[in-house]
Amino acid sequence: MYTIIDGKKISQEIKDELREKVAAMKEQGMERTLAVIQVGAAPASSVYVRNKKKACEYVGIRSLSYELPEETTEEELLGIIGELNGREDVNGILVQLPLPSHINEERVLLAIAPKKDVDGFHPVSVGNLSIGRPGYVSCTPAGVIQLLKRSGISIEGKECVVLGRSNIVGKPMAMLLLRENGTVTVCHSRTKNLKEITKRADILVAAVGRPKMVDETYVKDGAVVIDVGIHRNADNKLCGDVDFDSVAPKTSYITPVPGGVGPMTIAMLMANCVEGIPG
Ligand code: NDP
Repeated sequence: MYTIIDGKKISQEIKDELREKVAAMKEQGMERTLAVIQVGAAPASSVYVRNKKKACEYVGIRSLSYELPEETTEEELLGIIGELNGREDVNGILVQLPLPSHINEERVLLAIAPKKDVDGFHPVSVGNLSIGRPGYVSCTPAGVIQLLKRSGISIEGKECVVLGRSNIVGKPMAMLLLRENGTVTVCHSRTKNLKEITKRADILVAAVGRPKMVDETYVKDGAVVIDVGIHRNADNKLCGDVDFDSVAPKTSYITPVPGGVGPMTIAMLMANCVEGIPG
């Protein structure tokens, strides 16, 4: 019998804890502010931005909204980031990706001061994570760690396999599992004998970006399976990288899509905004 890890419930718990923290901070005269910058009006980005602002409102974080036209130049955007970097009342800066093609995403992310990099994408944040120094951590993998911990799943000494090596999910996920003393293997499109490796996993994190690719033949009995993938099928229904129906009966714990990792990303963004850089 397997347990479904309820990301909706756990993310709500986290937001409620943060809401209390923010209320206590406000009593001491401290306020948290997140600047959210969107360039253009791509519908998917608008939904993400709206959800982030809604979460800020719930938790009690002030959000400053920059809805810039598609034709905004890189210089204009860098100018706004520079100004926000210098503002003492702004704790976090978030630039919604993707940016229009005439803007160099890397230059923009590099311009955000690491101490305000609540998405955890700046090379300084990534470097700090790699060498075990305090810093912001990418929200989706940080959310996976919370799902495991809050479900009472220990990571220490476990065989952890991460399927995917992107900069925003796979690599930071591997670093975080290592930080929790897991034994970590990272797989990617050039990995040989993939199933042999994934079948070793006590904890398997799928961040491969391929709908339902991970079926029961990838998973050992009793494994914990975390599905980071999000896809919409032809009927507009959401599914993950894991074929839930075939995999779930083999697992001890599994995350569903929707309602697993997805809601954790915004909760962890809120945590980054409220808690700042720990240590
Ligand atoms: P990317 O496409 O950037 O990375 C996918 C990774 O999977 C790459 O490392 C790639 O290998 C590897 N891969 C692709 N195909 C195979 C294969 N057949 N066998 C083995 N490895 C393979 O995706 P992201 O990391 O950005 O996202 C992964 C998934 O998570 C997506 O579905 C995305 O929508 C979702 N996502 C969900 C979030 C959430 O909030 N829940 C947030 C971010 C992403 P290689 O490097 O060799 O190309």
